[in-house]
Amino acid sequence: MITKKANLLNVLKNIYISREEPISLVHFLTNRCNARCSFCFIDFDDENTFKGELSLEEIEKLTKKLGNSLLNVNFTGGEPFARKEIIDIAKKYIDNTTIQSIYITTNGSLPDRVEKFAKEITEYDKEIELTFQISIDDLPEAHNKVRKINNLFDQCIETYEKIKKIKNCNAVVSITVTHENCDNIENIFNHLHVENKINNIKCTIVRDEGVYKTPMEKKKKILDAFTFLTNKIKNLSKEGNITNYNTNTLQGRLHRKKDFISWNMIKETYLDPKYISLCHAGGLFGIIKANGDVYPCEILEDKKLGNVRNNQYNFINLWKSTSNKKIKKFIKDTKCNCSYECALSYNILGNYRYQHNLLKSAFNLD
Ligand code: SF4
Ligand code: SF4
Repeated sequence: MITKKANLLNVLKNIYISREEPISLVHFLTNRCNARCSFCFIDFDDENTFKGELSLEEIEKLTKKLGNSLLNVNFTGGEPFARKEIIDIAKKYIDNTTIQSIYITTNGSLPDRVEKFAKEITEYDKEIELTFQISIDDLPEAHNKVRKINNLFDQCIETYEKIKKIKNCNAVVSITVTHENCDNIENIFNHLHVENKINNIKCTIVRDEGVYKTPMEKKKKILDAFTFLTNKIKNLSKEGNITNYNTNTLQGRLHRKKDFISWNMIKETYLDPKYISLCHAGGLFGIIKANGDVYPCEILEDKKLGNVRNNQYNFINLWKSTSNKKIKKFIKDTKCNCSYECALSYNILGNYRYQHNLLKSAFNLD
């Protein structure tokens, strides 16, 4: 892990010993979204869903109290580009924290806003790495229908092409394997990779969260499709035909290997959930909701740590509080486990058992 703004020794001590400051946070900038995907976990019918977003001024205060180890923030939502102040929010993170990268998940429906953001932020901070994860889950007509936006597929491709031209920006298309696309996954992949020449493709597996529950009878088919897709991406990336990361760099090789390890963990546990290794949610990784609620992860909805508004926006105090120590103890004692990729990434990074494989990849030994 290479750090520019954070002190490397402090970060390593935090990752491997104390684990009391986040190195990555997911910040839900808003719950608003112009799409209405059938598998979305947001309850758009609940009037409280859109209430109480943290203002820019509140986010500014929050960013000053995020600790000294934060390397990455993931902007998500809702649709993060529905938040008009997203450029100013990114600048607050750049000015006030130790981040070196911003990862943004978008439905890809707003190519001009995304391009403006990418150009302005890479101009503002020439060292920041931006990754835009654009969700595409199906062939054009079906994708537009499932997400309920006309012409969305074409807008996603336009967004991808625009980002690819900007220095220090990475665009990646992410396919979420769900009960709706699992029967057609090979055609979808070919349409993206072969016909639309998309070379950066990742995939995730749909998870039960909020108001979405996976139909039980579809789980085996979803897993088969996920297995097919991950094998395909793995083989093509080893041949250099999929380039999700720059494997000429140490970090690129580590990230690629981390994906391979986490896909295997998901395959091992999706149908038969079981504990594999300690989850560092609540330590190295955490969640800030649009209204300022703080959670260790997206799944443990009954484990809210508190709200930054009630804690003088001092996130790190909340993170080091007795109530979070109890939550981390709960996660450890219950051998908490799930298939949530964001948390898996930091669990792999923070667990000794994976370091051997990561190091082998770092030095091109596998
Ligand atoms: S694009 Fe994302 S946030 Fe918007 S409805 Fe779909 S799943 Fe939900
Ligand atoms: S294992 Fe999953 S549910 Fe449990 S704390 Fe980690 S991310 Fe949350």
